[in-house]
Amino acid sequence: MGLFNRLFGGMKKTRDTMEGAIEAAMEEVDGELTEEVFEQLEEILIMSDTGMRTANEIIESLRERAKKQKIKSAGGVKSALRDIVAELLSGGEEVDMITMPAIILVIGVNGVGKTTSIGKLAAMYKEQGKKVLLGAADTFRAAAIEQLEIWAGRAGVDLVKHREGADPAAVVFDTIQAGKARDVDLIICDTAGRLHNKKNLMEELGKIYRVIDRELPYSDREVLLVLDATTGQNAVNQAREFKEIAEVTGIILTKLDGTAKGGVVLNIRHELQIPVKFIGVGEGIADMQPFGAKGFADAMFGEG
Ligand code: GDP
Ligand code: MG
Repeated sequence: MGLFNRLFGGMKKTRDTMEGAIEAAMEEVDGELTEEVFEQLEEILIMSDTGMRTANEIIESLRERAKKQKIKSAGGVKSALRDIVAELLSGGEEVDMITMPAIILVIGVNGVGKTTSIGKLAAMYKEQGKKVLLGAADTFRAAAIEQLEIWAGRAGVDLVKHREGADPAAVVFDTIQAGKARDVDLIICDTAGRLHNKKNLMEELGKIYRVIDRELPYSDREVLLVLDATTGQNAVNQAREFKEIAEVTGIILTKLDGTAKGGVVLNIRHELQIPVKFIGVGEGIADMQPFGAKGFADAMFGEG
């Protein structure tokens, strides 16, 4: 399956819900779109976790277009929404990985899909011809290290690990040293996500940042926050909290295949001003792709 089809397939729940609701809202329309229809459309967006403010802005744009373009059909509404959403989401999704090595730090609470996403990213970049090295800096549980090892094996990349309970910053340090010695293009480090102990997590991440600052001062660096799309507003709240304690440069939004509420992308991108850089649409190694505004808008509202 091609990349586009994977996203399209993974977004099926969201798209089906969206298309069905738009068609229902437009059923009785005969002539111009009424206030009631706009309200219904806004409701549909809010129901998909788009967020009140963003939904409102989208509907305002739709109102203008509907007037200008004399939109009367469900197809017309879908096409206009697709354009508006693509525009709203575009910008900031690039990932610069030019320096050697570049480093990606992956953060987020337990269970959101950090380790899985690292495995997928490793495979993706390896496929592009990059030499990738993983650092198992989630040292909180032995199982976390083992799980990353399994993913390293699947992706066919190396991994640096310490024992359970080791200092995560020391793992990052060793990974960077090994990365330099082996001339890798990209280092990706896992971390433990204990947000319930905010002070601890902040200190732990601070220490990791200092190691990176010292050892790779001029390197391209991404701090990617992983969020589980199925948790809706909770994901938005997590992003808000992590933004306070870490310099998040982008989001990996996982499990879009498991939800009809793909609008949460809009919520995060537009209301929190953090770009979504990758999306996960399944548990397999190839079920991850760079975020693209247009592809996402197509997958959300359908192509036709
Ligand atoms: P971590 O605790 O943040 O490292 O999360 P894991 O990587 O261990 O993932 C937790 C669960 O989410 C696992 O069962 C993964 O298979 C699942 N998962 C991760 N990403 C996706 C995704 O994009 N789609 C689906 N359906 N499941 C995912
Ligand atoms: Mg993990």
